[in-house]
Amino acid sequence: KTAFHNLSVSVTIRKASLFAVSNVSITRSLATKSKHKVLTVLYEGGEAGKRNKNILGCVENALGLREWIKENNLENQLELIVTSDKEGDKSVVEQHLPTASVVISQPFWPCYLDEKRIQKAKNLKLAITAGVGSDHVNLEAACKAGITVAEVSGSNVVSVAEHIVMQILALVRNYIPAYKQVINGEWDIAAIVDRAYDLENKHVGTVAAGRIGFRVLQRLKPFDVHLHYYDKFRLPEKVEKELNVTYHPSVESMVKVCDVVTINCPLHPETEHLFDEKMLKLMKKGSYLVNTARGKIMKADALVDAIKSNHLAGYAGDVWYPQPAAKNHPWRSMPNHALTPHYSGTTLDAQKRYAAGARELLGNWLNGKPQREEYLIVDKGEVVSRAYTSGDATKGNSDTKA
Ligand code: NAD
Repeated sequence: KTAFHNLSVSVTIRKASLFAVSNVSITRSLATKSKHKVLTVLYEGGEAGKRNKNILGCVENALGLREWIKENNLENQLELIVTSDKEGDKSVVEQHLPTASVVISQPFWPCYLDEKRIQKAKNLKLAITAGVGSDHVNLEAACKAGITVAEVSGSNVVSVAEHIVMQILALVRNYIPAYKQVINGEWDIAAIVDRAYDLENKHVGTVAAGRIGFRVLQRLKPFDVHLHYYDKFRLPEKVEKELNVTYHPSVESMVKVCDVVTINCPLHPETEHLFDEKMLKLMKKGSYLVNTARGKIMKADALVDAIKSNHLAGYAGDVWYPQPAAKNHPWRSMPNHALTPHYSGTTLDAQKRYAAGARELLGNWLNGKPQREEYLIVDKGEVVSRAYTSGDATKGNSDTKA
């Protein structure tokens, strides 16, 4: 399969899936006498979560699972635990892991299922990511333990692609310092334009042209930029021509010619710390980097050095390691960044889609129905997702390296 083929298939199926999910009927064919514990790890919604029921990804609204369980009369089959308390030996997660059959988590508030936790989770059958990106699960350990790992592929890819375009423009046009001047009662045009450019005619490249990377290329084409990409799988020639995009045989060859680089590959052993001192040095002086993929793809300190030395003109994105990011994380205070907390893939529109997908995955599992192929990351002891496989994701996505 080509990357593009995979992409178009997933889009069609996704539409169908949203429809199917609302009509899901639970036959209770696999009902057991004892309840299945579903451990759901989400962020606290606070005032916003109480007021806005569309914030499905928070503890208060629990992906719509409470209502779904009620509507489908599943109270006797499922015991739902919902918590944000995920770190440390005394956390609610640690308490319930040994007896949980299903863990549902999100990349925005990840429940790190490292090797130790997976060994502890003796009853665990299914790890669902309500969103895209399952690197918070140690896939090698999940394979060994026979745990199925599944995510809602495609559910938030437009949300992220839009965020990337926004952050590229914010960096290149020097938006954040200009906005700060307004807030601070200042009016110093020269200080802003000192670092402000047009995006037109610049060279913009994406590491990976999967669902998100491809959509970034599509959205940037009308800006009249020179487009570049590297991926393990090449797009069909026709698509390359339509986008007028240049393929590179390696990340190294691409970053050397780009004014802006955006990272859109999954985190696995091949991509962990891909952007280290060496890779950052290869980037053009004065170029920009936008990473909404995963924090660990960057070597954190090497990035700070590249920004402080002005080798890179700016950095943006929304992914950190670990999450939530520490108050004193060095990226917060480095100059010339436009970082946000991890929210690009969790707009209210995206939440509706991945909450429905998570419920569909849980319903299928309970019913003994097969899952959609494109949702599966680990199945029957093997990494089956193409995005992770040839990166040899089974060689441990290291649990400890920052
Ligand atoms: P996808 O599976 O559609 O595409 C991934 C692409 O990466 C594939 O084309 C694959 O061939 C390529 N790839 C894999 N390993 C590579 C490598 N070593 N070098 C180059 N290319 C490689 O996934 P997607 O939906 O486009 O999402 C990509 C990633 O973005 C996710 O895995 C996740 O980490 C991240 N993401 C972040 C957010 C957010 O809110 N910030 C939301 C969704 C996804």
